[in-house]
Amino acid sequence: MAKIMLDQITTTITTNNSSETQSIGAALAAFLTPGDFIALKGDLGAGKTEFAKGVARGLDVDPSILVTSPTYTLLNIYKGRIPMYHFDLYRLAGDNDVVDLGFNEYFSGDGVSIVEWSERLNAELPQNRVEITFLWQAENSRIVEFQPFGERFIEIVSRISS
Ligand code: ADP
Ligand code: MG
Repeated sequence: MAKIMLDQITTTITTNNSSETQSIGAALAAFLTPGDFIALKGDLGAGKTEFAKGVARGLDVDPSILVTSPTYTLLNIYKGRIPMYHFDLYRLAGDNDVVDLGFNEYFSGDGVSIVEWSERLNAELPQNRVEITFLWQAENSRIVEFQPFGERFIEIVSRISS
């Protein structure tokens, strides 16, 4: 019972421009270790990719490398302090795609998985993860809502939000 309650803690941050959203991503990246899973949810233009850019920066991905939404490829891999597997599942449709594409190899692998449109995954998400929902509030303002799962991410979210 207590555990279920812990898993339902959410923390909300409002950002007022895209670089603030990137900065939260960079702050989160400092705590990441191989096998971590970050689910990014929210409508098109909500700020998921901006956040992923910040994570890349925080993972020491070469700043000259452009981080873009991998909409047409499903996955972009960036080499940083640890590898960053950046998925965009917007185009994913059927139930079987996920299993067939073998995403779990990445999710439990040697890098960090950052997944835009994670709602499209019908597979069970890794237990240690953070789900981050982006809500458009105004032209330059977004609500960023963190829902951590597992004690480690609960601790991480409390650190980056204080
Ligand atoms: P998504 O990946 O969710 O579809 P993107 O991150 O690609 O969205 O795009 C978000 C757009 O909104 C960018 O053009 C960005 O410059 C703009 N923007 C304005 N304010 C913010 C903010 N506070 N946080 C994130 N992006 C913002
Ligand atoms: Mg995107």
